[in-house]
Amino acid sequence: MVGVFGGSFDPPHMGHRALVEVAKERLKLDEVWVIPVGLAVHRSLTSGVAAAQRLQWVETAFSDLDYVKVLSWEVDQVEAVPTIETMRRVVSMLDTVPCWLMGMDVWRSFPSWIAYPEHLALCNVVVLDRSGESLVMHEAWKRVETLNGLPAGHVCYLEVSLPAVSATQIRQTMMAGQEISTGVDERIKNDIRAAYVGKVVMENV
Ligand code: ATP
Repeated sequence: MVGVFGGSFDPPHMGHRALVEVAKERLKLDEVWVIPVGLAVHRSLTSGVAAAQRLQWVETAFSDLDYVKVLSWEVDQVEAVPTIETMRRVVSMLDTVPCWLMGMDVWRSFPSWIAYPEHLALCNVVVLDRSGESLVMHEAWKRVETLNGLPAGHVCYLEVSLPAVSATQIRQTMMAGQEISTGVDERIKNDIRAAYVGKVVMENV
């Protein structure tokens, strides 16, 4: 089974990696397709870091996990790609139902996604706990032993403990010229610091 994991990765951090690793392990995934957002549909990417740069960081951060494929589908587009288009593309390439991995914060806003019902009908959604985010239940919540062979349209909740790190917190710390001791992959830490230090950025405009 393929797990799909999208995000801004602005920058990628150890929370992303831990989520992928735990999902692979718990759901017995064969592959995880990591798909960085190019231009965001729902919010502005305001850090000013180019999509190609974020893609490169993601490729490096996952390069040692042979079950991870990093796909540049959205980054390659000049316009924002609604996630549903990516979902349709994923489904067209597979003869099994993929599962879509997301943290609890994204799950909370999932119903506001473009074509949300279609999205849910095309895959099984897997929601993972995120530190600081309370559990949001859903009428579609099901208890299952495995997602293998399960038809699309289910929502699965994985109770996990992942590192309490966020891209916002990393950006803000680095912009303020402070050091990050944990949370960022050592292989890309210097590049990330160079990209954010000294930037004046408007968040969430
Ligand atoms: P930002 O702080 O800018 O919102 P982020 O840290 O949430 O960024 P994204 O790239 O937006 O990172 O997130 C991609 C996916 O990873 C989302 O589904 C998000 O819920 C999940 N995620 C990110 N960090 C964590 C974490 N520490 N624990 C659990 N899930 C996480």
